[in-house]
Amino acid sequence: MIVVMQPGATPEQIRDVEERIRQFGFDIHPIYGVERTVIAAVGAPELDRNEAKEQLESLPYVEQVTLVLKPYKFVSKKFREQTVVRVGGVEVGGTHFAVMAGPCTVENEEQLFKTAQAVQQAGAHILRGGAYKPSTSPYSFHGLGREGLELLARARELTGMPIITEVMDPRNVELVCQYADILQIGTRNMQNYDLLREVGQARKPVMLKRGMWATYEEWLQAAEYIWLGGNEQIILCERGIRTFETYTRNTLDINAVPAIKELSHLPIVVDPSHGTGRASLVPAATLAALAAGADGVIVEVHPTPARALKDGAQSLTLEAFRDLMRSLRPLAEVMGRQL
Ligand code: PEP
Ligand code: MN
Repeated sequence: MIVVMQPGATPEQIRDVEERIRQFGFDIHPIYGVERTVIAAVGAPELDRNEAKEQLESLPYVEQVTLVLKPYKFVSKKFREQTVVRVGGVEVGGTHFAVMAGPCTVENEEQLFKTAQAVQQAGAHILRGGAYKPSTSPYSFHGLGREGLELLARARELTGMPIITEVMDPRNVELVCQYADILQIGTRNMQNYDLLREVGQARKPVMLKRGMWATYEEWLQAAEYIWLGGNEQIILCERGIRTFETYTRNTLDINAVPAIKELSHLPIVVDPSHGTGRASLVPAATLAALAAGADGVIVEVHPTPARALKDGAQSLTLEAFRDLMRSLRPLAEVMGRQL
């Protein structure tokens, strides 16, 4: 239940409503705005919700009470119109279109720095790179760990770009926070609730990738876990789901973009690299994301994709990334987005 107070409600009136909500058996999560206060009531009260709504709405200092039947409340569109996540001068959400680019995996200094400088010159805003890599195979490369984080921090110094990198283990959240500007939660960990709770405590933005099997409702509930920890800086990322198709690695669900815009106020970006698994399809999927209303993309780029330790087949060369940025500009203008 979301209770919107009248613009002129006094502190006493707000306290009165909070007390009534508690007596109904809800927990309260107030937001004291400059213009008006909004109180979210969560929990499973004894009282009939419609009854509670009627009682509160009869108060002259309550403007509106909305029942939220969805299993997520704070990340829902009913709670807020729009969230903009700000990181190092870059906005994700709003009218800006954020481009995150870089290698799948941090391999060595030369590979990372070369990629970082090239994507920055081409117009990317945020540098991506995995130091801790989840892998389906226990035999593949699992990343450089702390050494990879150090290299990312140096690449940030070199280029001034904020960095996004994945955290897989709740025990590593503190460490990754010391280096990263955005914490990435990978598809395989979307329902790792201990990890979600841990990044909920962090004071860094989190990009939550959609589980490759997850419905929108499950995904938004995962985001709600992060929110409930106190972290409201959440970016959703559609990265493709499993279907019967085998030509592509995943099926990029472009529906997710307008659907999430209907359901939630959180920004949503698209990962056309994992969403297709093929470098040749990445430019079209990126343009589709922008056209569908996404708030940005995260794209894998490598100086020599054929020699990449991971995800070479879906990585763009430095030149291909430059071309992609060029082709995005006219569409961004049509869509009213700043690149
Ligand atoms: C990645 O971004 O390199 C990655 C592992 O992504 P996902 O979790 O979507 O597979
Ligand atoms: Mn990858």
